[in-house]
Amino acid sequence: MFDFFSTQIEYLKGVGPQRALLFKAEVNLYNYEDLLNFFPYRYLDKSNYILITQIQTEQQPIVLQGKIIHIEEIGNTPHQKRLIAKLQDESGIIDLIWFSGIKWIKEKLVLGSMISVFGKPSFFKNHYNLTHPELEAYQSENTIAQEVYYPMYSTTEKMKTKGLNSRAIAKITENLCQQALGSIPEILPQWIIEKYNLISREQAYIQIHHPKSQLQLAQAQQRLKFEELFLLQMDILKAKAKTRQLLGLRFDKVGEVFMQFFQHNLKFTLTHAQEKVMKEIRSDTKSGHQMNRLLQGDVGSGKTIVALMCMLIAIDNGFQTCMMAPTEILARQHLQSFTKHLEGIGLHIGLLTGSVRKKERTKILEELANGKMQILIGTHALIEESVQFKNLGFVVIDEQHRFGVAQRAQLWAKNSIAPHILVMTATPIPRTLGMTLYGDLDVSVIDELPPNRKAIQTLHATDHNRIKVFAFMRKEIEKGRQIYVVYPLIHESEKLDLKDLMDGYDSITREFPLPNYAVSIVHGKMKAEVKDYEMQRFIKGETQIMVSTTVIEVGVDVPNASVMLIENSERFGMAQLHQLRGRVGRGAEQSYCILMTADHLSKDATERISTLLQSSDGFKIAEADLRLRGPGNLQGTQQSGILELKLADLAKDGAMINIARNTAIELLNEDCNLENKKNQSLQRYLEENKHKSFWAKIS
Ligand code: ADP
Ligand code: MG
Repeated sequence: MFDFFSTQIEYLKGVGPQRALLFKAEVNLYNYEDLLNFFPYRYLDKSNYILITQIQTEQQPIVLQGKIIHIEEIGNTPHQKRLIAKLQDESGIIDLIWFSGIKWIKEKLVLGSMISVFGKPSFFKNHYNLTHPELEAYQSENTIAQEVYYPMYSTTEKMKTKGLNSRAIAKITENLCQQALGSIPEILPQWIIEKYNLISREQAYIQIHHPKSQLQLAQAQQRLKFEELFLLQMDILKAKAKTRQLLGLRFDKVGEVFMQFFQHNLKFTLTHAQEKVMKEIRSDTKSGHQMNRLLQGDVGSGKTIVALMCMLIAIDNGFQTCMMAPTEILARQHLQSFTKHLEGIGLHIGLLTGSVRKKERTKILEELANGKMQILIGTHALIEESVQFKNLGFVVIDEQHRFGVAQRAQLWAKNSIAPHILVMTATPIPRTLGMTLYGDLDVSVIDELPPNRKAIQTLHATDHNRIKVFAFMRKEIEKGRQIYVVYPLIHESEKLDLKDLMDGYDSITREFPLPNYAVSIVHGKMKAEVKDYEMQRFIKGETQIMVSTTVIEVGVDVPNASVMLIENSERFGMAQLHQLRGRVGRGAEQSYCILMTADHLSKDATERISTLLQSSDGFKIAEADLRLRGPGNLQGTQQSGILELKLADLAKDGAMINIARNTAIELLNEDCNLENKKNQSLQRYLEENKHKSFWAKIS
């Protein structure tokens, strides 16, 4: 059967084998479908013209209107030949220049006629001119269906030298759109089209390339955006339904280990939010289905203790557990705090990281295989093939944003029946983004901090205030508190970053010299043992100041630290600043976060800093971050493939994401296998495009 979409573009009028090769090599376009989805990056509104004297730059394409007052052909050899026409408007005169196609243009140009021209100006011999502008007769009353919005396509230098500029591509897509008539079947069910008043798929593709009005463009964008988001949500929800049906290990009872911990070792009362989450996880783990749950909670909200208690219930039911942390420091710290929490209960706990020596590692692997090891804490090292458990039942992944989704899936394979998985993150994800990014997980939220926490005071300072800042630090240290000083990664080169950090360390040690003060330093390039040694000195209170890069960003818990000083804080994203701030305010004392910046800040940086000064709500900050920086810069989104969205913008299209998701839910509730006749076209489309599924790539 002739399939429009998979037809090679070389067969399209205006393309041919040469250009087809160029399209493939330069912009990855192979067939009609690729070209249809090669959307214009902007549209030139031809009704929106400017005056000749208003031309200011070569960068922007422009539209002019005026009268042709002179036409002249110059040059004798074909090489020198060109056609120059002078266009006059009320403000001035500009040259229109052609080097090729002269004969054809000459026929079109009429001396004294009024025309619109558009193109990119070039600046030559102190004047702007337009080379090879597009021409159009002045809009007269009775012209119908004028194409007012002219599509602009991105091209490459190579394409341009071969004549494939934006305008040539526009001609090609025009041909494509003509052929498309009657060749693009609808895929959305009719009831959805009616409900949201969408135009047909075919019309949408035609109108997005060649809209005849602002309205047509808006209709096309709305339809295709909706389709994109809807298909994505269908994908996610189907993946979720599938994992929901996975057989899960059943934790029937709460036993002795848990009770002993709960009654004797737990030193505080759980918050309501913690209790609520415990119940949610408890009900998952006895349901007989595998749990895939995301636990969101601001830094310091007490996620770790919840995870620990769930692990104890798994152990009560005869299973092994593990917890994966993003850094070695954090893994060691979890080991320490778990060991303390579990004192006297007699569980077997181990640590597995990249720096564990061979002999120790062999022993750990043995104990995992024979079931002796009940809790294993570690880093990425846990995922490796060679790490085999006897009976793994519960997996905790701390600080998800450092892990890819694919790694989560690898953990499923560690038991013949996949273990329950709890993913914890302190980076709040805006709701609409979460629906997409973590749409296949169930979500629990701890939205309450343990009692008696004093709100952290956030201050802004610049180099001018540095002496004051040092004095403040001294005062805090005198009170017995400890201080973090954090440097961002600024340069592309690690060497330079390290130099910044060492310079900072030098100035801090000059300001806070031995023997009265001691300063620790930690950075990513250090050996694990050294890092750990420095970290331990700070944790034990032997040093008062910890100078570091963002390696301490996640999870480190030193309750006695009361000041977080962040250098060059305008260079961090808000979510990251919020995370860093969360390292203090963990004890009973008043804590401070000092945001150091340059004197002059960009508008964006000013907004970021002032958001941080005003708000301590991680969710609010994440929403602002999403708005300011877009989804690509948010933590956790980098490797997710979520950026491959063609039209929709996860930061701006929140309302439509909601609608798309709810529509997908409505459809699946009614017809979960898409067997209903009215959903057949959609079913067929999904079946044929299975390989494109975002989730298919990662699981
Ligand atoms: P998170 O991992 O969510 O950032 P943690 O689990 O590290 O937070 O908890 C932060 C600190 O608060 C820890 O020292 C922990 O022991 C303590 N904590 C947790 N829950 C409570 C609670 N309900 N009451 C008092 N302190 C708590
Ligand atoms: Mg934590």
